[in-house]
Amino acid sequence: MSAIKQTVRSLFLIEFIKAFGLAMRYFFAPKATINYPFEKGETSPRFRGEHALRRYPNGQERCIACKLCEAICPAQAITIEAGPRQNDGTRRTVRYDIDMVKCIYCGFCQEACPVDAIVEGPNFEFATETREELYYDKQKLLANGDRWEREIARNIALDAPYR
Ligand code: SF4
Ligand code: SF4
Repeated sequence: MSAIKQTVRSLFLIEFIKAFGLAMRYFFAPKATINYPFEKGETSPRFRGEHALRRYPNGQERCIACKLCEAICPAQAITIEAGPRQNDGTRRTVRYDIDMVKCIYCGFCQEACPVDAIVEGPNFEFATETREELYYDKQKLLANGDRWEREIARNIALDAPYR
């Protein structure tokens, strides 16, 4: 009887040591999780986040009001009105709205744009408390573009070989 007890004890000890070793290995291994929001994970250059309207380096709006993005949007989230620009008569938007509540983040608007004006930027932290705050107008979209231009330009350059 005592021989059986001894064997069981030995087996238990072996299993305990194996489990302890496994626990220690994972304890000291690099963590799979991050301490969000204080740490942020890497996002792909193709990440489709909050929308932005971009400008050229001289400050001129890229958008030429061709309305391709509006036409292709499957959620009908984009509303554009076009008109001539005051100083040179070129076609520009006088209204550019995106209903972010309708948007399904498919990226078609970005793909359709011939001048890389409308893009889905890297920002994913734009939750709001009210629905109204998610009705973006041109001013808001241009402000997003100004804020994220450096990251957007870098992501477009990184993705360029695959487009
Ligand atoms: S990401 Fe898709 S659904 Fe959203 S505005 Fe662009 S085309 Fe429309
Ligand atoms: S954002 Fe691009 S696709 Fe949309 S109207 Fe402007 S230029 Fe055309």
